[in-house]
Amino acid sequence: MFDSLRSRLILTLLSLLTVLAIASGLATLTTMKQDSQQQAEQALQVAANVLLQALENRATQLSNSVRLLASDYGFRRAIATAEQETILSVLDNHGSRVDAALAVLFAPDGQLLASTNPALKSSDFSPFFDPTQSRSAAAFSDIQRLGDESFQLVLVPVRAPQVIAWIGMGFQLDQQLAEQIKGITGLDISFTSAQGRNHSSRNSTLASHLQPAVLTALPELNAGQQSPFSSPDEQYLSLALPLDQHHALWALLHYPTERWQSSYQQIRQQLLTIFGVSLALAFILALVIARSITQPLNRLTQFATAITKGESKVRLPEATGEVGVLSQTLSQMQQAVQQREEQLVHQARHDHLTGLKNRTYAEQELQQLLSQYHCSLILLNIKNFRHINDSLGFTSGDSLLQQVAERLKLVKPVASLLARLGGDEFLMAYPRPFQDSDALILKMQLQQDYHLDGSALSLSFVLGIYCIEADSQPVSDALRRLDIALSRAKQLQEQYSFYQQGQDEHHQRRLTILRDLPTALQSNQLFVVYQPKVDLKQYRCHAAEALIRWSHPELGFIPPDEFIQLAEHAGLINQVTDWMLSAVIRQLALWRSQGIELKVAVNLSAHDLNNPSLPEHIAAILQQHQLPTKALALEVTEGAVMKDPKQVIHILHQLRQMGIELAIDDFGTGQSSLAYLKQLPVHEVKIDRAFVKDIENNYQDELIVSATAQLAHGLGLKVTAEGLENKAGLSILRQHQCDTVQGYFFSKPLTAEQFSSWLGSFSLQPKQWFAPEDL
Ligand code: C2E
Ligand code: CA
Ligand code: CA
Repeated sequence: MFDSLRSRLILTLLSLLTVLAIASGLATLTTMKQDSQQQAEQALQVAANVLLQALENRATQLSNSVRLLASDYGFRRAIATAEQETILSVLDNHGSRVDAALAVLFAPDGQLLASTNPALKSSDFSPFFDPTQSRSAAAFSDIQRLGDESFQLVLVPVRAPQVIAWIGMGFQLDQQLAEQIKGITGLDISFTSAQGRNHSSRNSTLASHLQPAVLTALPELNAGQQSPFSSPDEQYLSLALPLDQHHALWALLHYPTERWQSSYQQIRQQLLTIFGVSLALAFILALVIARSITQPLNRLTQFATAITKGESKVRLPEATGEVGVLSQTLSQMQQAVQQREEQLVHQARHDHLTGLKNRTYAEQELQQLLSQYHCSLILLNIKNFRHINDSLGFTSGDSLLQQVAERLKLVKPVASLLARLGGDEFLMAYPRPFQDSDALILKMQLQQDYHLDGSALSLSFVLGIYCIEADSQPVSDALRRLDIALSRAKQLQEQYSFYQQGQDEHHQRRLTILRDLPTALQSNQLFVVYQPKVDLKQYRCHAAEALIRWSHPELGFIPPDEFIQLAEHAGLINQVTDWMLSAVIRQLALWRSQGIELKVAVNLSAHDLNNPSLPEHIAAILQQHQLPTKALALEVTEGAVMKDPKQVIHILHQLRQMGIELAIDDFGTGQSSLAYLKQLPVHEVKIDRAFVKDIENNYQDELIVSATAQLAHGLGLKVTAEGLENKAGLSILRQHQCDTVQGYFFSKPLTAEQFSSWLGSFSLQPKQWFAPEDL
C-alpha cells in the first residue's frame, strides 16, 4: 500500500507536519505552563508580602496602643495598687478601642495578672513569654497559639521606672483576618498550625469542601525558603509562610491553578484545532502535490505500457519539467521503436532480393483474398533457372530475378497480389477468373528480353493456374493445388496448366501411397499372387509370374501399376523388389519342399537394373533358401533396358550366367524393340496383352503376334503370350507357335495356396482346357 510514490509522499509530508506541530505545540505549552507558574508564584509572593505587611501594620497599631496604655499614669497606679477590677476594665476598654481580641497583664515574673479572656492561663503564654530569660525590658510582638486560637500578640513593659508589669494585646488570626487579606490579594488564605506533617486548619477562606483536599498532606513545612507546592488534586498552588518563631503557625496562600490552567487548556485546545486543521489542509495539499507528481507519471506509465503493447495511436501526455523531459524521451523512444518495428515488419514480410512480398505475408494476404473473391492464382516458374544460375553465376541469377520481379509489377492484367515464394517461384493473384488468353498475354509480356551486362537474354516461363470457383478454402489447399497445376505443366512440358478438379485428390492419394509404402513393406499389407504360365506344346504348367498386391488399410486395394510407378519415382522400388524376391524365393523353397517344382518370374523395374549388386544380391537370397537358380526367372521391360542399355545388358548377362531365365516383358509396346532384341541376353519374349486380348477378332494383332513369334524363334527365344482371356484366342496362339500362354483364361493371379490347388486340378486334366482340334 505504501509502495506507491503517492502514498509515500503524502505520508512523508504528514509525518513532517505532525512532528513539527507536536514540537511547536509542546514548546508553546511548556513555555506557557512555566510562564503561568511563574505568574502564580509572583502572585503568591505579592500576597505573602501583603499578608506580612498587614500583620506588621497590626503589630505596630497594637504596640502603639499598648505603649500608650503602658504610659498611662492611672493605669500604672492601678497596677501598683493591684486594683484588679480597674486593671481589667482598663484592659477591656483599651483593647476594644483598637479592636484587640485579647488584652492581658503579666507580672514581671511572667505570672498572668489579668486577662480579657478568662479561659487563658499563665501556662498558655509560657512558650512565648518568659520575662526572666530572653526578654529584656523591651516591647516585642509575636504570633502564638493560645489555647485553641492563634493570636498576634504585642507585649510592652510597664515601667515605673522598673518594669512593674507587661501589658499584652493581641489580634486573633481568625476568619475575619483571612477574609481581609483575601480581600486585598484576591487569593485564598488559610491559617494552620503544624506539628510535623500534621496540620490542623484554623481559619481558611477556602470553601469548606475544598479544605480537606488542599490542606491535608501538606509537605513538611520548615523555616527555610518555601517554594510553592501543589495540592494533591492540583487545584491550588500554595505558598506557606511561617507566622511564629517556632514555626508552629503557618499562613498558606492559595493560588487556584484553574486560573491559568483554563487558559492553558484553552490554548491547548486552540493548538489542537490548529494542528487538526493544518493536518487536514496538509493532507489535501499533499494529495494535490502527490497527484501533480504522480498523475503525469501515471500517464507516462500508461503511455509506456501502450508502447509496450505496440499501440501506436496513444497520445503523448503533456507535461513540463523533468516529467516533460521523460515524456519527450519516451515519445522519441516510441517513434524509434515504431520505425524499427515497421522496418522489422517490412523485412519479415518481404523478400529482400526483389522487394516483393514473401511467402508468409502472401499467405496472410491470400487468406483475406480467398475469403472475399472467387479469385485466380498463378504460380510462375522460370524454366531451367537452375541451369542459368549454374552457368551464369548467382549474381546474374539474382539480377534476373530482380528484373522478373520488376516486370511482374508492370504486366497487364495487374495482379492484386504479387509475391516471391522462393527461388524462381512467383505468385500472382487476380480477383477474377483467368482465361487461356490471359495466360498467353502474360507469358508474352514476360518473355520479352531481359538484360545482363548489356546483352539481351530471353527467359521462358511455365505457369500453374488455379481458378477458384468453390467457396473459400484454406490457403494451404489453394497453394497445394496451384503447385499441382505447375507440376503438371512441367510434367507435360506445357507452357501453362490449369488445375483440374480431382487432381488434388489424386495427388493426395499418391502422397498417402508413398508415405505408407515403407510401413506396408514391414507389415503384412503386401502379399504375392501367382499367375500360371501354361506350356502349349506339352499341355503342362511348370511356370508362373509373381505379381505384387497391396491391401491398404484405408485406400483398399491399390493396383500395382500405381504404386510401383510411384515407388520408382520416389526411389523406393529397390525395397519393393527386395521384398518381392525374398517372398517369392521363400515360397518357392516351400513348394519345392512339397514336391512342387516351379519356375516363377519376378518383375524387375528399370531402377533395379541400374543396381550393379543386384545379381549378387539375388544369389545371396537363393543361397539362403538353398534354391537352385533355375527356379527363378526375371522379367524386364524394354523401357527399362533402353534407359541405360550398356549397364542393363551387362547386368542381364551376369544374371543369365547365374542360370536365371530372363524375359522381355510387354514386348511390342516399346519403341526400338526389334533392333535391341538380338543384343539382349534373354530367353523369352512376352508379347504384350494389347495384341493378345482381342486376337481372335483383330487380324492385325494376329499378324503382329505371328511376326513376333517368328522373329523370336528365329533368335532362339521362347515366346509367351500374355493376357489370353478365351479359348478362341488360344487356338490362334497355338497356330502361331507361341510356346506359353498366361492369362485369365487359365487363371487370374492366385495366392500361393489357391495356386497349389489350381495347379493340382490343372495337372489332373490339362487337356480339357484345349479344344479337341488343338490337341
Ligand atoms: P505385367 O508384368 O505385364 O503383369 C501382367 C499383368 O497383366 C498383371 O496385372 C496381370 O494380372 C494382368 N493380366 C494377366 N492376364 C490377364 C488377362 O487375361 N486379362 C487382363 N485384363 N489382365 C491380365 P497386375 O498384376 O495388375 O500388374 C500390373 C503390372 O504391375 C505388371 O504388369 C507389372 O508391370 C507391374 N507389377 C506387378 N507386380 C510387380 C512386381 O512385383 N514388381 C514390379 N517391378 N512390377 C510389378
Ligand atoms: Ca510381367
Ligand atoms: Ca506384361
